[in-house]
Amino acid sequence: MKKHQKTIWGGIVSAVPLAVLELVIPDRLVDIALITLAVLLPIGLALVIWGTAVKNRWGVNLEAVDCARCHMRVPQIRKPRSFRQMLWGGAICNRCGCEMDKWGRSVTT
Ligand SMILES: [Zn+2]
Repeated sequence: MKKHQKTIWGGIVSAVPLAVLELVIPDRLVDIALITLAVLLPIGLALVIWGTAVKNRWGVNLEAVDCARCHMRVPQIRKPRSFRQMLWGGAICNRCGCEMDKWGRSVTT
């Protein structure tokens, strides 16, 4: 096969999955998905920035925290022990069992 033939075939082969995708997913659905993303992304970003500033559950805490009760450092990488922890972060102290949020504040459950 000559070189230019190869590039033509390459173009056809790579265009096929795209064409199939366009047939499977209707244009309107793609539009809705894009609009939803365009609306939700800035909202999510704003929530994270605001949450980090006021230290609520939406925020991101990259700093290590100490236990609210016994001041032992909590490991930064840990397994979530509840659904709430999985969703919003937080930890349970290995030494005293105090449950805290991701900002190291004690959580009363
Ligand atoms: Zn503790």
